[in-house]
Amino acid sequence: MLFSQIPGQQEIKQHLINTVQTGRISHARLFFGPEGVGVLPLAVAYAQYINCENKQPTDSCGQCSSCLKFEKLAHPDLHFSLPIAKTKLVDADKVVSDDFMPLWRVAFAANPFLSLEDWLDKIEVDNKQVIINVEESQRIIQKLNLKAYEAEYKILIMWLPEKMNPSAANKLLKVLEEPPDKTLFLLVSENTDSILPTILSRTQLLKIKPIEAAEIAQYLEFLHNVPASQAKSIAFLAGGSYREAQRLLNQEVDSNFPVFRQWMRDCYGNKIQDLYNWVESFSKEGRESQKSFLIYGLGVIRECVIFNHLGPNNVKLTGEELTFVTQFGRFIGNTNGPRIIAELNRACEHVERNANSKVLFFDLSLSMTELLKA
Ligand SMILES: [Zn+2]
Repeated sequence: MLFSQIPGQQEIKQHLINTVQTGRISHARLFFGPEGVGVLPLAVAYAQYINCENKQPTDSCGQCSSCLKFEKLAHPDLHFSLPIAKTKLVDADKVVSDDFMPLWRVAFAANPFLSLEDWLDKIEVDNKQVIINVEESQRIIQKLNLKAYEAEYKILIMWLPEKMNPSAANKLLKVLEEPPDKTLFLLVSENTDSILPTILSRTQLLKIKPIEAAEIAQYLEFLHNVPASQAKSIAFLAGGSYREAQRLLNQEVDSNFPVFRQWMRDCYGNKIQDLYNWVESFSKEGRESQKSFLIYGLGVIRECVIFNHLGPNNVKLTGEELTFVTQFGRFIGNTNGPRIIAELNRACEHVERNANSKVLFFDLSLSMTELLKA
């Protein structure tokens, strides 16, 4: 992982590089910050930089034999401790992080900004209860007492130390305070409140702040080829989390969307026969899906009103839905907007009261046709 693959965080990157260049590398450092802002990628990039054989002023070289192994998280002097549990995929009596390394390498390569939720999905944990256990602490002590294989520093990255149970944490206190020579601990936390104070007091804290929206937008634009305006609006909604930006970017379109869009087009185009055919089939859907469709429609119309009054930056939709709102929004004005919302609300109530859905949706379609002309 190169520093350049992480959006923003210039100050932190420079600070970390300075610690290496001035020989002030702390033996136990705790990176902490909210999910998705790059806490884990920064720790991995830092570890790679520390052991890079051809350090550049602002990043690792990315090409030396150390960097190539770090790229795959396969360097023999790079160790990980992770929140885990016995799963279908890794079924042993006492699991340790090493058992999960193949899965971890795949998960991190797919997304260095992964969340705990992503990891749990990856390792297929049923009850969502994962910990860093005392066996893990024992393993850490054993491993770090060995000599480094080939790098100057042995580095242990512990992802989410807040998942250590007290016995695991207590077992680590001594080695955290007095680690073997040329051994570094990089702890990566999203919630320092759940970490034992005795652990916190033995580490140097490094707070990672949310990423600037402009930096996220730039990465979306250049790495994912997202159009500038969409990148900007996703970055705005992401609140400084690159993971959240990815979620918004890959957001699956609501299944109601294509149906609603077609319905609005037919209403606007006054296509009575098409509307009649649609009502014929849609009236056979269950009440819950009819209600969900109407509620979805209400949401889209509201976003149209927001788009018209507050501009595109305040619309909480992305992708095709956002495109639709930006085009369709101009047919929703101050007069017909509130009336359309009232009609959809009324239809919703009638669905709940078991009204004849064929009559209901055909009447509603005719009202929409009238209202969209206004
Ligand atoms: Zn290198």
